[in-house]
Amino acid sequence: MKDQPKVTALAGGVGGAKLVLGLSRLLHKDNLNIIVNTGDDDRLNGLQVSPDIDTITYTLAGVANDETGWGIKSDTFNGASHLKLFYEESWFTFGDKDLATNIKRTDLLNSGLSLTQTTDIISKSLRVLSKIIPMSDSSIRTVLKTKTGGELSFQEYFVKYQSLPEIVDIWYKNIEISTPNNKFINALDNSDMLIITPSNPFLSIGPIINMKGIMEKIKRFKGTRIAVSPIIGGKALKGPAGKIIKELGENPSCYAVAKYYKELIDVFIIDEVDYKYASLIHDLGMKVVIAPIIMRSLLDKITLAKNILCINNH
Ligand code: GDP
Ligand code: CA
Repeated sequence: MKDQPKVTALAGGVGGAKLVLGLSRLLHKDNLNIIVNTGDDDRLNGLQVSPDIDTITYTLAGVANDETGWGIKSDTFNGASHLKLFYEESWFTFGDKDLATNIKRTDLLNSGLSLTQTTDIISKSLRVLSKIIPMSDSSIRTVLKTKTGGELSFQEYFVKYQSLPEIVDIWYKNIEISTPNNKFINALDNSDMLIITPSNPFLSIGPIINMKGIMEKIKRFKGTRIAVSPIIGGKALKGPAGKIIKELGENPSCYAVAKYYKELIDVFIIDEVDYKYASLIHDLGMKVVIAPIIMRSLLDKITLAKNILCINNH
């Protein structure tokens, strides 16, 4: 495996999981560090939920529900209907198998283990070999400030209110008093390639890159830094990324994402339909690669991963 690059990939849920699955099929497990957003984590119905970690784990285990983008495929919902008897937060639904994952995580955390150790135990139980690393063991929480003045946790915004409220600001609670995972720092120090997967820039990648010292580290990264656009033809394929870019005052396009990653990446990969943005993005100081970046099949995921691994910027 000596001729393979060592890769650190930053990921949220669905968009990140697709590319990470492709990468995991090409790279030896020791050559891929998957750093996952924990800004969406919460305590709901007495359980500690880590939705992005679960989406990545379930995808790599081959059990993810690709239709919903969360939970386990063909799951049943008996526990969820009974939870409604006891908890007000019953807008947050768990499938029965998914409930088991969340019980196990909560149990391990209650026994004093870190989220990193907990994630490792759960992924090994699901026979996932890849290294899934929570961005931090501290509790960093994404908060969305709405136009009407209220503040929502990520799960309230995304699940309870279905991403409908208009957003004026996003911030990451506790980020200034939290430390990034040591395994993340080591991965950055020892990788040849940094890949920002096509996850939501503000909600999934924002919490990771805004942790103390991370931006500076990424700016000094010695290898090639590549991002894939989650916005194609002015829209997100799933979720509120396009809507949020607009509400924060930008035109929703791959260019807005490139601006957000300015100085953090060397290469930005955009879809063929967005070719007209290439020169604008190039002027931000990054190379532009135009490629098919919609990942429907496993082959699409592996092909995009292969194209990325072939990029050599130096
Ligand atoms: P979440 O945490 O589950 O909401 O998901 P992420 O933040 O990881 O990903 C959401 C983003 O993934 C959205 O902005 C989508 O546009 C993007 N996305 C989903 N599927 C694809 C795909 O096949 N290709 C690309 N380029 N982006 C995708
Ligand atoms: Ca997420």
